[in-house]
Amino acid sequence: MALSDISDITSLQHSDWQGLAAALAPQTGLFIDGDFIDALDGSLADTINPANGEVIAQVACGGEADINRAVASAKAAWQDGRWRFMAPRERITILTRMAQLIEDNSAELALLESLDMGKPIGDALNIDLPEVVSTYRYFAECIDKLQGSVTNTDRGALHMIEREPLGVVGAISPWNYPLLMAAWKVAPALAAGNCVVLKPALEAPLSCLRMAQLFVEAGGPPGVFNVVNGEGPVAGKALAQHMDVAKISFTGSTAVGKQIMIYAGQSNLKRVALETGGKSPQIFMPDLNDLDTAVDYAYGGIFDNAGQVCNAGSRLLVHESIHDAFVSRLVERGQQAYQPGDPLDPATSLGPLVSRIHQQRVLGHIDRACSEGAQLACGGAAPVGMDQGAFVSPTLFTGVSSDMSIARDEVFGPVAAVMTFRDEAEALQIANDSIYGLAASVWTSDLNRAHRMTRALEAGVVWLNCFGDGDMTQPFGGYKQSGNTRDKSFDCLLGYTQSKSAWLKLD
Ligand code: NAD
Repeated sequence: MALSDISDITSLQHSDWQGLAAALAPQTGLFIDGDFIDALDGSLADTINPANGEVIAQVACGGEADINRAVASAKAAWQDGRWRFMAPRERITILTRMAQLIEDNSAELALLESLDMGKPIGDALNIDLPEVVSTYRYFAECIDKLQGSVTNTDRGALHMIEREPLGVVGAISPWNYPLLMAAWKVAPALAAGNCVVLKPALEAPLSCLRMAQLFVEAGGPPGVFNVVNGEGPVAGKALAQHMDVAKISFTGSTAVGKQIMIYAGQSNLKRVALETGGKSPQIFMPDLNDLDTAVDYAYGGIFDNAGQVCNAGSRLLVHESIHDAFVSRLVERGQQAYQPGDPLDPATSLGPLVSRIHQQRVLGHIDRACSEGAQLACGGAAPVGMDQGAFVSPTLFTGVSSDMSIARDEVFGPVAAVMTFRDEAEALQIANDSIYGLAASVWTSDLNRAHRMTRALEAGVVWLNCFGDGDMTQPFGGYKQSGNTRDKSFDCLLGYTQSKSAWLKLD
């Protein structure tokens, strides 16, 4: 079967996906000025399937000179106005067509995502791809809703405030949702009228290369959206230090986010928007309505995507009166819910971590938690029989206190830490005792308590009686060291613009 022969994606079996994967010929070049090209020095990097260690492809690995070429292409597109001066309706048409092309090519993109980072094919198809499509649709719809204003000034003047794009935007994205995290940057940046150079994570760049190609297929002018694969400390650094880049939009670790701010200060004071790490608390009050539902959300919030989620609810704060029932249910239901296997098998619900290196990092966090006295309730190692890939079983620690590293450090794997509390005040104190503040949840049937706790939580997103829900209208981003910006939402679009005040003195 070829990709073009698929009539119903949902009917594809494991063997179908394996056949499609064997026939796949992914794009591997740098995408500059509308074409795939080699790195100037010919460098290549292996991109590896973490489910079995096999090399999927060798991608061009760009360096500083390639970033310079891509920025020059984006700058030329910016200066001649081929995108920003295009009528808003035309830009809406192109980005809407791009959303449609992404939807039409979902099978191919999901396959690339699954092979490249180990995501179960069902998750890629049913979670990531629809969200990528929504992202482009939403920001396309926003284009002609961006407005300036005329302010209330003295009658001897007319004061207009216009909203203008910034210029060349550099986007640096992570590997956990390769296409979606890139789309959260590229779509609003383009919608606002900017030109873009994207540097995806070298662990999983394939889907982003195809996405850039679809922009041109949708009618987007060459040079407006470029992609340079490369090492973070080389290509990413060159982009963040570039004098012709007006803004860097970064998603990744807090440590690298801090570096990006330094690069901006060392170069041209470019704007820096950061979405960084997290250690999100999920709080379970004794008056919650339905323990089974709460437990199902609890493990979904930390084990989905093998825990490689920035807002992962890795700290489970459970009232002491429901602790035992909560833990026993979570161990039983949480383990059953995740079936490790080949990510190309639609029955698989637990894929490998993105790489062997990351698997060892996560297992190191687990060893440290054990040595600090946390009790292992389940998991703690690779699932039996899954040695061919970078797998880690869903892991739960109990008896955790706030000073332990498992309660403080971002693991970015399927590892949860249960802590108990006596009352609301103690729950809030533990929840806020973190350098991070990306997300939090509260489970309670008391409306007053829900609002009181929402106000007291130091987090950019608070979920009440759910976790991870939302749509494109939801500003997504963190307090404290989880970042300084918001993705999704109209607020995000404004972040890719700047105001211009035009003051006209009237006769
Ligand atoms: P990372 O920080 O290692 O890498 C992120 C990106 O930065 C990659 O493209 C990488 O190549 C690049 N990079 C690395 N070093 C660089 C440097 N010196 N200069 C410029 N670029 C550099 O993060 P990761 O391991 O890819 O992703 C995991 C992290 O991302 C986690 O901390 C997670 O919480 C965070 N994340 C946050 C959000 C959010 O919305 N807040 C979303 C997803 C992931």
